[in-house]
Formats: sequence, structure tokens, C-alpha cells
Amino acid sequence: MTRATFIVPCFNEQDNVYRFYNTFFSVFERSPFDWNLVFIDDGSSDDTWSELQRIAQTTDRITAISFSRNFGKEAAIWAGLNNASGDLVGIIDADLQQSPTDALAMCEILEKNPQYDCVAAFQERRRESGFMTKVKGSFYSLFAKLSGMNAIQDASDFRVFRKSVADAIRSLPESFRFSKGIFAWVGFNTYPYPYTPDNRAAGESKWSTVGLVKYALEGMLAFSVAPLRIATTLGLVAAACAIIYFVVLLGQTLIQGVDVPGYATLMGVMLLLGGAQLICMGIMGEYIARSYVQGKNRPIYIEKARIGSLDQE
Ligand code: UDP
Ligand code: MG
Repeated sequence: MTRATFIVPCFNEQDNVYRFYNTFFSVFERSPFDWNLVFIDDGSSDDTWSELQRIAQTTDRITAISFSRNFGKEAAIWAGLNNASGDLVGIIDADLQQSPTDALAMCEILEKNPQYDCVAAFQERRRESGFMTKVKGSFYSLFAKLSGMNAIQDASDFRVFRKSVADAIRSLPESFRFSKGIFAWVGFNTYPYPYTPDNRAAGESKWSTVGLVKYALEGMLAFSVAPLRIATTLGLVAAACAIIYFVVLLGQTLIQGVDVPGYATLMGVMLLLGGAQLICMGIMGEYIARSYVQGKNRPIYIEKARIGSLDQE
């Protein structure tokens, strides 16, 4: 029997975990899969952990890990991967926006199509405003251009993949994790599965607009060094302008004699170049800071408690 392990990141989902477990149970109990769930409590401040303990008393199909603080969904996915031993591994949100019925359909696709290694759900129709859809669309195409990886489109973290893909991802222990990029980077044959997210069962989304922008920038910096080249390009453009300006100036001096005007021009050029230099230094700083943090080699998460066995063979 094929074993399917689903990773469920939870952050303050006290009203959802039990509902999620029940729905997942009713869908997968009738399926041919030997299923289990790895819940990651990402430092919730509500009763998520006691809810998980309550569920664990009724079944041995769940493992749950609680973090010492909130480390973010990417860290939760990483912890889940390190504790998922199924032939198929999936990632699904705890808020029932991503339905277990779709998750089962995704597992079945892999069962029936040996040529695919991963099924990635993408939103056929985004629930957000047209503006947000446009912004996200442009981010993905810019990301694809800068990183040279095309595979992400609109794919979410809602995925099911084979053990081989899970092993490949486990071989990337980087601190700055951006799942969409990581999945694209490891490659493999991915089947795009269209789905429409449901409304959140309870609670609210943890993503603010600022949070999303930060996450997008993080992803960009983690997968592309193209921003570093901005400095080179700007430098070349500035040098070319300077040469042209110098030739013009020389001509003017030869024809009209020496003149010393241009305080405003001088100020303008100085400020412009100064600004450009600071921006380039800032970009470089971002990369240096990341290699500094990576250099410290800190763990991606700290485990505080665990329910169930270590699910690794
Ligand atoms: N999540 C998490 N850690 C966080 C933020 C979110 O584990 O720091 C989990 C959250 O509990 C949920 C999933 O990640 O299961 C997706 O989060 P959310 O529903 O807030 O995001 P959205 O669906 O709005 O994109
Ligand atoms: Mg959600």
C-alpha cells in the first residue's frame, strides 16, 4: 500500500486543526492510501498544541512537533520534510482553504502517472482583486527572468510529490527558504493541478501586504544574484555619460573659452550618483547579510515538544 504523509503547518489554528483532521480523515479513510499527518505547531500562542494533543489521543496516524517560537511557514515545511517518510509527501494548509479532496486527487495523479514526480496545485481563478493578481503575476515573471527558472507560474505550496523529490529538497539546507523557488530549482516532472481555494474555515490569514512584499524580496534574493549586476550596469551607464559629457565640454571650451557655470548641474549629478552608489551598496549589503546569517549555520527551527514517534525510517 502506498504511504502518503502530509505536512500541515499550523500557526494559531486552534479552531481549525480538529476540523481539518476530521475532514482529512473522512476523505482519506475511504482511499487506498496508508496515510499519516505531520502537524507542525509553528509557535502558536493559542490552544493549537492542546488541540493536537487531543487529536493524538484518538489516533496513531499523527505526529506533531511544536516549535519554541514562531519560525515561519517555510521552517515548518522544512521540519515536516525532515519527519515525513511516506512514498508520497504532501504539504497542505491547516485552514481548509486547500481541500483534502484535492489532496487525494493529487495523490491519485501520481499513482496513475509514473512519469510525474510532483503535483503542484495552482489557483485557476484567484480570489483576490484584479490588482493583486496582476502584482503577483508580475512578480512571478520577474522571478522567472532573474532566476532563470520558469517552472513556478502561479503554483502554491499545496503540493504532493514523491520521496525522490523530498530527498532532493532535504539536500538543500539553506537558511533562507523559499519553497516555490526550491521546488523549481530541484526540477522533476511537475503536473499542474488547477484548484480553487475555499474560504478560511476559521481565524484569519497570517499574511499582511508588508509580509508578502518581504517574502517576495526574500525569494528574489535567495534565488538570483541579478540585482548585484545593477551596480555594474549603472556604473557603465554613468561612465558612458561622463565620457560624452567630457567631449561636449572640451568642444565648448575650445570654441567659447573657459567658463565656470553649472553649480546646479554639479549638485544634481553628485546627488544622483551618490544615491545610485548607496543603493548598490545596500543591495550588496543584503547579500552579505544573508551569507553572514547562513555562515552562522543556525538550525532553521527549534523543537520544543513532540507527539508521536520520529516518523523517519
Ligand atoms: N503558517 C505557519 N506559520 C506562519 C504563518 C502561517 O505555519 O508563520 C501556516 C498557517 O497556519 C496555515 C498556512 O501556514 O496553515 C497558510 O497560512 P495562511 O492561511 O495564514 O496564509 P494564506 O492562506 O492567507 O496565504
Ligand atoms: Mg490560508
